[in-house]
Amino acid sequence: MSDPEENPKSNSNLIIIDYKSNVPLFGLDFLGVLDRATNVLEVKPITICNFHCKYCFVSAGDYDRNFSIDRDYLVEWIIKAIELKNCDDIEIHLAAYGEVLLYKELNELISDLRNIPEIKTISMQSNGVLLTKKKIRELENAGLDRLNISLNSMDENECADYCGVKNYNLEHLLHVFDLVLKSKMELLIAPVWFKGINDNGILDIIKYIKKVEEKGYKWPKLRLGIQNYLTYRTGRKIKKARMRDFKYFYKLLQNMEKEYKIKLRLGPNDFGIHKTTAIYPSVRIDDIRNVEILMKGRWRNEYIALFEDKWAVKVLSKEKIPLKKKIRVKFIKSSLKGNLLTAIPTIH
Ligand code: SF4
Repeated sequence: MSDPEENPKSNSNLIIIDYKSNVPLFGLDFLGVLDRATNVLEVKPITICNFHCKYCFVSAGDYDRNFSIDRDYLVEWIIKAIELKNCDDIEIHLAAYGEVLLYKELNELISDLRNIPEIKTISMQSNGVLLTKKKIRELENAGLDRLNISLNSMDENECADYCGVKNYNLEHLLHVFDLVLKSKMELLIAPVWFKGINDNGILDIIKYIKKVEEKGYKWPKLRLGIQNYLTYRTGRKIKKARMRDFKYFYKLLQNMEKEYKIKLRLGPNDFGIHKTTAIYPSVRIDDIRNVEILMKGRWRNEYIALFEDKWAVKVLSKEKIPLKKKIRVKFIKSSLKGNLLTAIPTIH
């Protein structure tokens, strides 16, 4: 495990989580294997991003320290998760708190996963701009089934603005869409709808999809998954954009479905998602237990701790805690329907 302090935001200075680090890959929201009691396991191998989106709910790009998981170590924990779930139609959804294409061993990781019989689908979330003809072929050959790519407008300047970058090559991204559609993989275009801000952008994307459909690419090869804009306390927010409740959001989608004759409301059945055994820890909210501080987390006030030798816990503390120290913590996040753990110190 390397622990760079000099320039923690650069790619070469990623903190590598591997066997030596002793960090379990169950328990953290930003890294590892996340279970939500369904047949989909979300896998988060890296925390860096090439964008700095104004709406990023995980604030990627602002972290003081960034992480990447050793591939063998990650595969071992994914296998562990599959065994615990006792399920033979697992979907692995690669959805980093960052851009997964920046993960150095992505092709190899997908190939490894393809060889696990219980894994039936491998999908991936990306902003897409780093994709090239070669990369798309590599992902296809490695065994990727579906690419979910974000796009929030058909206007290049607006895209650049939302994504917090100087230049956004929309033409390149549309070419990427063509190449993905010509491959064996499915394509899901996933805009976020900031109501009142990118309304025209959403309509333009619908019109674009309708045109592509005319070339013969239909559901499920090509899907549009418009997402409701959600804000979180620790995420970045677009000024003037408001969160809408889901009932209202689905009503808007329903109206547009009728008007444009396109499927827009997507649910678990559309992706073969069903409930399964959950991977959950032995603690409940407000329980007080001992943990060992392993390392600092992404932020100044965040630590990664070890609990019961098999769980990573996010410990939030404004006060400095020495590494390797065993402390008492109170759990403030834990659930029977998933494997995330957050705690705060009782006394140091
Ligand atoms: S929204 Fe996605 S692409 Fe944008 S900064 Fe966050 S992780 Fe990166």
